[in-house]
Amino acid sequence: MGFEKFGIVSFTSQTKATPFIDHLERGVLAGTKCKGCGTFYFPPRPDCYHCLSSDVEWREITGKGKLISYSTLIYAPTGFEADLPYTIALVEFDNKVKVFGRLSKEVKDEEIKIGMELKYSVVKLPNDRITYEFKKA
Ligand SMILES: [Zn+2]
Repeated sequence: MGFEKFGIVSFTSQTKATPFIDHLERGVLAGTKCKGCGTFYFPPRPDCYHCLSSDVEWREITGKGKLISYSTLIYAPTGFEADLPYTIALVEFDNKVKVFGRLSKEVKDEEIKIGMELKYSVVKLPNDRITYEFKKA
């Protein structure tokens, strides 16, 4: 079980990143933190760009985040055309953790505002796929 189950946001397939799906199935979004230098990664990475350590630990992302930027997509990668248009967002959580993902369609265009509070929500999709989206906090 790996990233092929993660339907919406494209992640590079990395065997060590499989716990990402395990966390999602518990309703939790998680990234990795380097034990060497403390750098946090989302999407999770099995090793650290900064100090090249592969000693990383999983950290859950909690609480509310703030919308930093967003973009509404009119074109999508192959396989995602049926969802158009949708909005992708960059949200900053505690400790400056930045998470990239899709904004829920429950959030209306006119409600979207930089700095608005958002939380993530894990969504189970057909065909045993799983993803997350951002909703109003
Ligand atoms: Zn490091």
